[in-house]
Amino acid sequence: MDLFEYQARDLFEKHGVPVLGGVVATTPEEAREGAVKLTGDDGGVVVVKAQVKVGGRGKAGGVKLAKSPDEAAERASEILGMDIKGHTVHRVMIAQGAQIEEEYYFSVLLDRANRSLLAMASKEGGMEIEQLAVERPDALARVEVNALTGIDAAKAAEIVAAAGFEADVADKIADVIQKLWTVYREEDATLVEVNPLVKTASGDIVALDGKVSLDENAAFRHPDHEALEDKAAADPLEAKAKENDLNYVKLDGEVGIIGNGAGLVMSTLDVVAYAGESHGGVKPANFLDIGGGASAEVMAAGLDVILNDAQVKSVFVNVFGGITACDAVANGIVKALQILGDEANKPLVVRLDGNNVEEGRRILAEAAHPLVTLASTMDEGADKAAELAAK
Ligand code: GDP
Ligand code: MN
Repeated sequence: MDLFEYQARDLFEKHGVPVLGGVVATTPEEAREGAVKLTGDDGGVVVVKAQVKVGGRGKAGGVKLAKSPDEAAERASEILGMDIKGHTVHRVMIAQGAQIEEEYYFSVLLDRANRSLLAMASKEGGMEIEQLAVERPDALARVEVNALTGIDAAKAAEIVAAAGFEADVADKIADVIQKLWTVYREEDATLVEVNPLVKTASGDIVALDGKVSLDENAAFRHPDHEALEDKAAADPLEAKAKENDLNYVKLDGEVGIIGNGAGLVMSTLDVVAYAGESHGGVKPANFLDIGGGASAEVMAAGLDVILNDAQVKSVFVNVFGGITACDAVANGIVKALQILGDEANKPLVVRLDGNNVEEGRRILAEAAHPLVTLASTMDEGADKAAELAAK
């Protein structure tokens, strides 16, 4: 889960990373009040910053200085509603202005390719870090970080030396990057990036921007992270699936997929995509793993999510009976269709195999639901579902 800058700022503050004051606003009036709150009525400088989960806001005109609360309101009215790389700005952050002397870069992230963590730092931060990484890779220090030992004082000193920070800021930066490491570790992040990390006119080191991605697999350890979710932006089908604890990912095709076990569901996607090639190029509409249980309720919840996807034209249920035997799965499907009633309105192809398969097929045959077609193999089921979706 990616956070907004203001949420990253709050996490930084919580872990002692030096940041400047910041207040979120959704209207120009709130922006004015925010500026008053930060600077008093005497009108210090504030920065009005678009809150969108995309980089390059500065270049797109989404970061503007304001010298008074009234000006902050004006800048906010310009920025709110703006489109930045396809993201509409619904909120701005009013941030205390900084007197910037130098702009640096720092990040720590999960480096999947190298199966380790990686810290990156540069004396030349600011808006062009991607370009810098390509054109002058030497100016961007890359230091591997061991996940068990993290960024302790020695590692911080190594990173600071590799980036070549001047002696007058070296110790302060080393201190700040240890705190940023605390954010990474304590919050179970996969990315903590600060660009720019600035040296102010008074010689302080401050995180002026923040990008944080949290590892959703660790959500159970962080009940407070749920409040950080941007519920309004979530895909409604994915939100519904999440409510029902279903592993669901929306894709772009026409054949809804339900299976049990991630491996089986992934191979089902492949087989359906392949079968779809001979039926006008139809594709899988989703990944949905209903897990080991496959009870009627879970099956109904899964079908409900898939049938509400307007793109779906047919559904392929591919279940391998194991601990939950095929007869239980078949009963689950029959009951799920009863629960859904008229909401079940698209053809279903069902392929069952494994434990108690004969009984499972008998139950479905006996129920003889007009929307259900039985398939005896995965290939046959995939082909039938693709054919129905192409109609
Ligand atoms: P990004 O473009 O989306 O990464 O947004 P940033 O938060 O990094 O802001 C872009 C640029 O705006 C920074 O690199 C700074 O140069 C400038 N900026 C941001 N905050 C301040 C501030 O408080 N004072 C001044 N003078 N410039 C700022
Ligand atoms: Mn930035």
